[in-house]
Amino acid sequence: MSELTQDVSALKGVGEALSGKLGRLGVASIADLLFHLPLRYQDRTRVTPIGTLRAGHEAVVQGEVAACDVIKGRRRSLLVRLTDGSGILSLRFFHFSPAQQQQFQPGTRVHAFGEARAGATGLEIYHPEYRLIKAGEAVVDEHLTPLYPTTEGLNQARLRGLIDQAMRLLHEAPAALPDWIPTSLRERFQLPELHAALDYLHHPPPEADLEQLKAGTHPTQRRLALEELLAHQLSLRVVRQRIQADGAPPLPSGRSLQARFVSKLPFSLTGAQRRVLDEIGRDIERAVPMLRLVQGDVGSGKTVVAAMAALTAIAGGCQVAMMAPTELLAEQHYRTFKDWFEPLGIEVAWLAGKLKGKARLDTKAALADGRIQLVVGTHALFQADVHFQCLGLAIIDEQHRFGVHQRLALREKGEAAGLTPHQLVMTATPIPRTLAMSAYADLDVSVIDELPPGRTPVQTVAVPDERRPEVVARIERACAEGRQAYWVCTLIEESEALQCQAAEATHESLTEALPGLAIGLVHGRMKAGEKAEVMAAFKDGELDLLIATTVIEVGVDVPNASLMIIENPERLGLSQLHQLRGRVGRGATESFCVLLYHPPLSAHSRERLGVMRETTDGFRIAEKDLELRGPGEVLGTRQTGLAAMKIADLERDRDLLERVGPLAKALLEESPASSAPLIRRWLGEEAGRYGQV
Ligand code: ADP
Ligand code: MG
Repeated sequence: MSELTQDVSALKGVGEALSGKLGRLGVASIADLLFHLPLRYQDRTRVTPIGTLRAGHEAVVQGEVAACDVIKGRRRSLLVRLTDGSGILSLRFFHFSPAQQQQFQPGTRVHAFGEARAGATGLEIYHPEYRLIKAGEAVVDEHLTPLYPTTEGLNQARLRGLIDQAMRLLHEAPAALPDWIPTSLRERFQLPELHAALDYLHHPPPEADLEQLKAGTHPTQRRLALEELLAHQLSLRVVRQRIQADGAPPLPSGRSLQARFVSKLPFSLTGAQRRVLDEIGRDIERAVPMLRLVQGDVGSGKTVVAAMAALTAIAGGCQVAMMAPTELLAEQHYRTFKDWFEPLGIEVAWLAGKLKGKARLDTKAALADGRIQLVVGTHALFQADVHFQCLGLAIIDEQHRFGVHQRLALREKGEAAGLTPHQLVMTATPIPRTLAMSAYADLDVSVIDELPPGRTPVQTVAVPDERRPEVVARIERACAEGRQAYWVCTLIEESEALQCQAAEATHESLTEALPGLAIGLVHGRMKAGEKAEVMAAFKDGELDLLIATTVIEVGVDVPNASLMIIENPERLGLSQLHQLRGRVGRGATESFCVLLYHPPLSAHSRERLGVMRETTDGFRIAEKDLELRGPGEVLGTRQTGLAAMKIADLERDRDLLERVGPLAKALLEESPASSAPLIRRWLGEEAGRYGQV
């Protein structure tokens, strides 16, 4: 195509070693260099009178050498005294050659750049960049000097030279880098033109607002950030179009089966559950794959909603796959669905990585010939060797761990029937609307915004760990009254192994301290079967107290458990604490959560624990979490795409998120051919291929 799409090695002086270094910066093509933007700028466009310099200023100065001495202090140094009539400044060199010392004869004119600091002799610049000049010689730059993010072994001057080469190529052949946002939209959304923006950012004029550039809020920077967000948004929309271009099995009604199921439940559905079920019903009766996200706070009853949707699919003669993020949760869902569905004559199975040998082969065979109607499992469900007879619905629980690639891969699971399954995604991470619209542009969103009646909010207290004995006594009392409790050991230095060790040690010490109680232990390093057994025993009330790691964070449901101790809660994010706490307060009894922290707490930790004490509202907690930790963390791994952007910053550019949706819509209407190249520009070739719908 054009020179700009070529590999950087096509540039003068770029060999293998240099292209490797550029690769580390995410620069592969010549065009990538154009989008490698400065971190900040230096102003070398004017000479600053020495008398106006202040400590901390980076500036160009010019003056005459008044004196030059070697100082023999603690560290030997060369001190050059420079005057320009307005003041006096010292240049200090800790490393210097005799030749250098010779250069600075009194009366010599010096041009220097560096950061002034308060030194032993007044203002000093350590190791300035400098050159000797003749009187009257003008050596200032025409533009601000960009400083780029770089990597070891690649200095600023080198990188700057390469980017200048790329800019020259762009000027010679502007058509090689089209502005995919057409003029009409640029005007409507008030966006600078692409080339003008790049010119400005690589070579800002002397009068540019350095503060604004540093903050990343200059209109040219915002234009590029918006374009990047737009590309992400478009890629999600394209994924959606791609999936929905295929047919899905229309699943018109499972009413009689659903009615039989509901009649056996010990409760009736909430209004919110019914509304969301209607929304799902309208989607899956069509021959187009559903792509729906159900958001509902912990305990809002998403599992029942999943079950109802599954029944519709099963009544329609299709299979259902339910995927959970952890084995523990998969096992628990399996038990729940088995209890619910077997009385209705529905065959339920379990499939995870740990299912091996003959059992695995049997389960796979039964899935392939349609004997199994509902299968619950982990990622293993969607591996290439698992075939379905007719997969009609895929339910994904806790979707923040499920990405666009998996969503696309799911299409292949409808292979035998030639149809793409409907997709229902459940998440307890309530994220604010504008962020949701960007992060989940590929999904329709339903919200279960009501908790089942009769729940008393969990009472939360924060207690320092020196009061541990009181907490232990409290567990004893609660269990004596027939209630159950969790004791959660949190992550220690990000190591799962250490977390499991801590849980084992706690299990030992509490078994000693509470001889009258039946105490279980569950952690991520136990075998699947063992974990399932312990959870079953806890659920059946055979265990009073369960010591656990954060493996129980999502989904575990034991309504009789009404006390939770979280050790070292200061180590966890708010959303994670909220998830954990959601394991209690699921029945009618009053529930308690004890945050057993290790003092002293930082101001930040105190604020977070304070939020947990004050509210049980998941949306408020999510807002606060966003404020304290930023969107990358809160969205989790699913959105690595959104969290790892080149230019846009979800926190700084939050207001741009509101403009992305309308811009994407307008672009698809007015310039649909721009979509694929935009995606390719920002997300790479592979994602660009999704663009060819
Ligand atoms: P989550 O949304 O966190 O996945 P669950 O589906 O695990 O919540 O439901 C939490 C608890 O509430 C479960 O014990 C479930 O049986 C119960 N539940 C669900 N819906 C209702 C309802 N409409 N009325 C009363 N209890 C309900
Ligand atoms: Mg759940």
